[in-house]
Amino acid sequence: MQTGNALIEIRTAAITEGACVFDFTCRAEDFNDPKLAESGFTDEIRVRAVTQKNGSELMLTLTTDATGEIPCDICLAPVKVSMSGSWRMYCNTDGCSRDEEDEETRRDEYRQLDRAAVSIDLTEDVRETLLLSVPMKVTCTANPDCRLYTGGEKEEKNSTSPGTKAWLN
Ligand SMILES: [Zn+2]
Repeated sequence: MQTGNALIEIRTAAITEGACVFDFTCRAEDFNDPKLAESGFTDEIRVRAVTQKNGSELMLTLTTDATGEIPCDICLAPVKVSMSGSWRMYCNTDGCSRDEEDEETRRDEYRQLDRAAVSIDLTEDVRETLLLSVPMKVTCTANPDCRLYTGGEKEEKNSTSPGTKAWLN
């Protein structure tokens, strides 16, 4: 049931034939997901939904653009990162099943839309796209302390062991 109170939704009446662009801004805390709230997003998140409507077929592309601070994997210092994600889905409203042979639609999400729905709720899709956009591993480059640490590790690897020295002599 569409309540019309979704965080990010597109009114189906606003989707016209051809391409439409919908812009949203939100914050990680808006999604009621502790995992997302703790992912390090700092500023406003920009979300863009582009719809491409062709009769009863609808292609929807979501892109997210955000900044965050994630602790460095080595020294735990906060590192500023930009996080961007994208996601695409296909919808249709005429009740026809999708073409299983079509490579393009098999790779992406395919959804059946209720013809009577007044809006498409994208909150969950945006939440998942944002979670996927968070980098798994971040290391800082500007922190001299962190570089020292990685440099030390390298030195250890390259140091010649007494056994090698003996062989050289
Ligand atoms: Zn570091």
